[in-house]
Order: sequence, then structure tokens, then C-alpha cells
Amino acid sequence: MYFIANWKMYGDIKSLNTLNRVIKFSKSKEINKGRLIYCPPYTLINSFLKKFKNCLIDIGAQNCHENETYGPHTGFINARMLKNIGANYVIIGHSENREKGESNRLINLKIKNAIKAKLKVIFCIGETLKEKRQKKTRQILSKQIKLGLDKIKNKSNIFIAYEPVWAIGTGMIPKTEDLLKTIKFIKSKFKSKSPKILYGGSVNPNNIKNLKKINIIDGFLVGGASQNSKKFIDIVKKTYS
Ligand code: PEP
Repeated sequence: MYFIANWKMYGDIKSLNTLNRVIKFSKSKEINKGRLIYCPPYTLINSFLKKFKNCLIDIGAQNCHENETYGPHTGFINARMLKNIGANYVIIGHSENREKGESNRLINLKIKNAIKAKLKVIFCIGETLKEKRQKKTRQILSKQIKLGLDKIKNKSNIFIAYEPVWAIGTGMIPKTEDLLKTIKFIKSKFKSKSPKILYGGSVNPNNIKNLKKINIIDGFLVGGASQNSKKFIDIVKKTYS
């Protein structure tokens, strides 16, 4: 199971101290088969890499520019640059970026270049509350998958993170039976082998007991709760207990 921490725009050098607990946990038997990946802000990637030098915790970024090569794009970083500093993963298509106008076409370009740069991609999809109420969830997910993964044959380095927009940071999660159906639906979109499917949206140590019942989920993308090491560790522990 994969446990991916999305720190969003939080964290400074002092935050590194909070990772000691996670490092210790990652070396214990309690981690079981859990694989931890941290996606801090760009400013902390290098510090996290140093901090995790002697343990198996991997590092990702939260976004990248769509261009494969260097260019005049003030304030941006491309996938190759991320790989070059030691990141192995990148989150692409997060709803907080889609909301600001990131299109499916742009997401598709980013994914293609991230794969070229040999990064593993955490590709986020999910419906808004309005779309859910209009019973458009499947239609929206199909479109996001079709356009986001257009002309990408080899999907072995892609993880799909199903993150209903209405569940992010709200404390709400889908009903178990609805989530099971949606994950099955996402898997059914792939003829041969489906990419690994993660769930994200308000995962915490209390609701993980319900979420883990859906045994076709390959892991969790955790935002808010991942900034608290104890909570993040509890999520992993409770997944296996
Ligand atoms: C996220 O932003 O990817 C996320 C899942 O956030 P939260 O866990 O805070 O809902």
C-alpha cells in the first residue's frame, strides 16, 4: 500500500524536525508493507531528501511545468529538473490547480513529460459537489482519464488518485459502497492492466478503518493529516491493524 503525503503550501525548515517520528517508524516492523512518499513544497525537496537519506521514504513534487526542456517560464520547474534533484514522483492534475484553470490538455502534456523524465505520476481526478449532485461523476472521471492519459500507452508509472473535490479538506468522505463502485469504474476504464488506484480526500486516523475495507484501493493520498506525523503514522498503522 502507498501512503502519499501532500504537504501543499505548508512547511519551513523547522518542519523537518517533525519528520523524526516518521523516520523512526519507517525503520520499524510496524510499517508493514506500507510505502511512504512525501510531496513537500519545492522549497523543501532538497532538505527532505537529505533528511530521508538513510531510510526508504521517497520524495515527490506537487506539480511541474508542461515543457520538457528549459525555457523562459518565470517561477516554474519542469519534470526533468525535479528528477535531477532526486524527486521520483510528481502529483499532476490536483483539483486545487484544475480550479485555477489547469486543463485536461495541459495535464496530459505534463504527464507525458513527467514520464519521459522517469518520474512516477500521481494523476488526480475527481468530480465537484455540483457534478456529483447532477450524477455526472462517471462522465467527469471518464473525460479526465481519456484526455489526461491521451496517447500514453505505457501506464506502468502512473498512479490514479481519485480525489472527489468535495472531500478535499472538508472532513467528508464518500460512502463505502459508492467509493467501491467508483474505484471499480475507474479500473474498468483500462482494458489490460489498470494503473494503481489511490483514494484522497480527508483521510484521517478515524475514517481509515472504513476506507481500508475497500481492498481494491492501492493506497491513500493524504493532505492535511500528513502534516502531523503522528496522524500520518496512525493512518498507516490502522490500515494494517
Ligand atoms: C489533497 O489535497 O490531496 C488531499 C487529499 O487533502 P486532504 O487530505 O486535506 O483532504
